[in-house]
Amino acid sequence: MLATRWAKAGALGTAISLHGPSLCAICRGWGRGRICAACLARFAQAVPRCARCALPVVADAPICGNCIAAPPPFDAALAAVDYGAPWDRLVTAFKFHDALDLGAPFANAIVAAERARRAPQPSLVLPVPLAPERLRRRGYNQAWEIARRVARTLSIAAEPALLLRVRETVHQLALPPLARAGNVAGAFAVEPRRRRELAGREVAIVDDVMTSGSTAAELARVLKQAGARSVEVWVLARTPRPADA
Ligand SMILES: [Zn+2]
Ligand SMILES: [Zn+2]
Repeated sequence: MLATRWAKAGALGTAISLHGPSLCAICRGWGRGRICAACLARFAQAVPRCARCALPVVADAPICGNCIAAPPPFDAALAAVDYGAPWDRLVTAFKFHDALDLGAPFANAIVAAERARRAPQPSLVLPVPLAPERLRRRGYNQAWEIARRVARTLSIAAEPALLLRVRETVHQLALPPLARAGNVAGAFAVEPRRRRELAGREVAIVDDVMTSGSTAAELARVLKQAGARSVEVWVLARTPRPADA
């Protein structure tokens, strides 16, 4: 119900934001953009994160203990916020209730996190793909809605159809953590006719949320097998470790 109201307010916000103020998706106050400056300052405070997996770390620790002990297949990760209130509700509205105008503030948050870390930019942005059936039902890939805006702002090439989801998977949140890697094994492939485009490329995979990192790890393996030199993961929100939550 609430999300439906957001979706409607979202459409209105899009129409109005071209000409002036719009309703903030978090506090419902009038401001500039779909998330107002006060809410961004309150809910999108940057915290120190592991450069490899984007989980929160104590200040001055560039890499977390887990990533030192068992580095993931991706080379770096960045997240703008922790997955939790109010972002969980906004992501649900964005994903399942057509609140597509949240794509712009989500992308802006990722761009801010990318600029803040002062690392060399990748040369190719790819969205985590949806299975064709799910894409047809939903009508859009929420990851592409974020990825294309991030890529445009940072002047990086973006390709919506280079990665394929060849097998529909159960949503990772529906599974216990130990079952998640198995759930995504073999779920992704590179478009066979376009493998050459990945040779030597530095790739950033974009998604709305990173949960266990199993999806990102599987995509990194697939992309590196196809010749990508490095793979980063850029997400709006990172699910904290259960112990950190
Ligand atoms: Zn607000
Ligand atoms: Zn880490």
